[in-house]
Amino acid sequence: MNAQRVIADLRELAARTGNADGAQRLAWGPVWRDARAWFRAKVDALGLATRTDAAGNNWVTIAGASPKTVIVGSHLDSVPNGGWLDGALGMMAGLEALRMYAGTTPPVTLMLVDWADEEGARFSRSLLGSSAASGELIVDEVRGLADRQGVRLVDALAENGIALDRMTEARTHLQTIDARAYLELHIEQGPVLESMNKPTGVVLGTFGVERHTIRFTGQAAHSGSTPIPMRRDAFLAAAQTALACREIALRHSKPGPGQNVVCTVGVVNVEPKIVTAVPGVCEISLDQRALDATVLAAMLHDAKAAADDAARANHVDVSWRHIWRIDPRPFDPALIRLCEEAVREETGDAPRLPSGPLHDAAEMVPHMPVVMMFAYSSNGLSHCKEEDTPEPHLEKSVNAFLRLVQKTMAHV
Ligand SMILES: [Zn+2]
Repeated sequence: MNAQRVIADLRELAARTGNADGAQRLAWGPVWRDARAWFRAKVDALGLATRTDAAGNNWVTIAGASPKTVIVGSHLDSVPNGGWLDGALGMMAGLEALRMYAGTTPPVTLMLVDWADEEGARFSRSLLGSSAASGELIVDEVRGLADRQGVRLVDALAENGIALDRMTEARTHLQTIDARAYLELHIEQGPVLESMNKPTGVVLGTFGVERHTIRFTGQAAHSGSTPIPMRRDAFLAAAQTALACREIALRHSKPGPGQNVVCTVGVVNVEPKIVTAVPGVCEISLDQRALDATVLAAMLHDAKAAADDAARANHVDVSWRHIWRIDPRPFDPALIRLCEEAVREETGDAPRLPSGPLHDAAEMVPHMPVVMMFAYSSNGLSHCKEEDTPEPHLEKSVNAFLRLVQKTMAHV
């Protein structure tokens, strides 16, 4: 195994598919196709074939003595002006895993998958290829999607040889695989490993998400003539709720790994939005995340109680509109242990942390044992050209991941 070769591949891909503003491998576009052609040539050079499933995911297989299969996955697409490591790190480490076993018959089968359109940056649907393979994708929900130029998803897919209505056949392909483990190396995209000064960490699972719009309805009134006790100020109810939700998140956060939770009020809309009017209507968004489903449910319950209290205190009405939710996807305990071993052997320590962002790995959790490994993010930055991992940390992360592949191949 050769981490320097992985880093050289990453630099080559960055030079080929990025510019001064960052990586430009937007899914379904020409630069992404070029990245995939470049990657396929590297796979060809190992004497291995690439096959594409009905959702555009690219698969490479090294058949083992047993059909039991270890899948290594990641993605080559990026957001516009993205980072050089998001997705690409996992793909290049996966390529090195193929190099470790190419030309041999390993005890079990090894597969590498390059998921199509992980980012959802163009059509606003993340994890498109992996959700088609997992059976989560509902085609009618994405049929109407179009990009900012008005190009429809269905046409962008067709340009890449993919028929929208047949995408879910990728599920059939995944079902034919005797998958015993799914492994993914990814840049953390957050500040946790950096704050601990650790090059690499073990991921416990991906956060569940509860996302709602909360609407407070009071009465717009003149700001000069209406005494404060007589107001029905919808904004103040929303503001009180936002502060209460922060307290709820802090209260439900515990010190252990994976025990902290987050919540964010990212949107505030007020009506009538006039400096001389008491706000009659205020809508806020609430995004709550936790790794433990019970904790997430309790956070939502507490937020509803807090919104009711704030509404009562301000003489306004409150209603909730569900936007989106996903269950927490905890990773497999046995694979987490192997991952800890691999990280500890390489770095002397095995910090554990949850993933706030979703990853393709989350789509595999219902179908097979899964674990992810994170690499240190400089300044916690990602989805931008500044995204980076210092080279010594990158090297350790790659080595630890390749150890994990070896351990898993021996374990399943
Ligand atoms: Zn990614």
